[in-house]
Amino acid sequence: MKVPFVDLKIQYQSIKSEIDAAIQNVINQTSFIGGSEVDKFEVEFAKLYGAKHCVSVANGTDSLYIIMKMLGIGEGDEVITVSNSWISSSETITQTGAKPVFVDIDPVYYSMNENLIEKRINSNTRAIIPVHLHGQMCEMDKIMELAKKHNLFVIEDCAQSHFSELNGVRAGLRGHAASFSFYPGKNLGAYGDAGCILTDDEALSTKFRMFARHGALKKHAHVIEGINSRLDGIQAGVLNAKLPHILDWTRRRIENAARYTERLKGLEDIEIPVVRPDSKHSFHLYVIRTEKRDELAAHLKANGVETAVHYPTALPNLEAYSYLGHEKSDFPVASSYQDRILSLPMYPELTNEMIDHVADSIESFFAKS
Ligand SMILES: *Cc1c(COP(=O)(O)O)cnc(C)c1O
Repeated sequence: MKVPFVDLKIQYQSIKSEIDAAIQNVINQTSFIGGSEVDKFEVEFAKLYGAKHCVSVANGTDSLYIIMKMLGIGEGDEVITVSNSWISSSETITQTGAKPVFVDIDPVYYSMNENLIEKRINSNTRAIIPVHLHGQMCEMDKIMELAKKHNLFVIEDCAQSHFSELNGVRAGLRGHAASFSFYPGKNLGAYGDAGCILTDDEALSTKFRMFARHGALKKHAHVIEGINSRLDGIQAGVLNAKLPHILDWTRRRIENAARYTERLKGLEDIEIPVVRPDSKHSFHLYVIRTEKRDELAAHLKANGVETAVHYPTALPNLEAYSYLGHEKSDFPVASSYQDRILSLPMYPELTNEMIDHVADSIESFFAKS
C-alpha cells in the first residue's frame, strides 16, 4: 500500500466540477487580476472565519511583511518569533529592517514557549509573532498579556492553523492582525501561491490593502510607495470553490489525527502530539518524535509511506542566521527536536486503512529494532 505525504489530486477529484467551473468563470470574465472571485473570497473568508476585514495578498510571506511594514516596524526595531517555523516567520522581520529575536519552543506543544518571551523583550522590541505551528495554537492568553504590559503588537502567523481554536477563539482573532497562507499544501490551499491578512481594525486593513496595491487605493492615486502583492482571480476562484468544504476537511483531519493517536499511544519509543487543553488542533501536520527518526523514515519509505520533517534545521541554526552568532544551546529544545521530529501523512482524504498501514509499519519497525 502506498501512503503519500499529501494528495492534492484526490481532493481535486472530489470537487472537480466546482473547481473547473470556478476557473472557467474567471477565464470567461477575463478577470485575471481583481474581479468578482477575489471580492467574493475576501467577503466570504472573513465571514466564515469571524473576522471583520480580509485583505487578500499574493502569499503568506508577503502578508507578514505587509503587516509589519504598516505597523511601522523597521530599522532599529526587534521582533520576537519562534525558533521552529518556516523561514517566512523570521525573514520578513529582516525584510522590514528589524532584527529577528528567537525564543525556544515548548517541549510538549512544539510552539513558542510563552514563558521565555519576556526575557527577550527590551526597549527596541515592537512585536511578537506567535506561529501556531502544525495547527496547534500558542498560549495566546499569556502572549496577549505580555504584549499589553510591554505595549507590543501581536501578529499571528496562521499559515498552518486555519480554523484552529483556543478557548473557543479561532487562531488569528486575538492579535492585531493575522497572516494566512493558501499555499497548495496548506489546510486551505489554492492552485498556486495565495495568502491573506485578517484583522478587526478597519484603519489597519485599509493600510494593508493600500501597501499591497502599490500604495494606492484608487488607480494612479499612489499615496505611498508600496509593493505588488495580489491574489489572482483564478486562485480566488479555487479558494471560493473550496471554502464550503473547509470545515468538513478540518473535521476529517482531526478524526484522522485521533485514529493515529489511538493506534500509536501505546508505543514507548515515540512521542505523539499532545493537544493543548480547551483547544482545537487543526492538524496541518501530525508530528511524532523518536530517537530513531531517520531509520524510522527509511523503514516507512520501504513500506510505501512518505514522511517529511518540519523542519530539519531550527531557524537560528540555519546558515542564514549565522550572523546572529547563536549556539545550539541557546535553543536547546528546538535544536534537539530538529533531529527527532517526523511528520506523518496527513490530509482529509486519508482512509482508515492508510492510517492503519502507517501505524502497523511504525509498530513493525520498533518490534524488530
Ligand atoms: C507556509 C508558511 C508561511 C508562508 O506562506 P507562503 O504562502 O508559502 O508564502 C509562513 N509561515 C508559516 C509558518 C508557514 O508554514
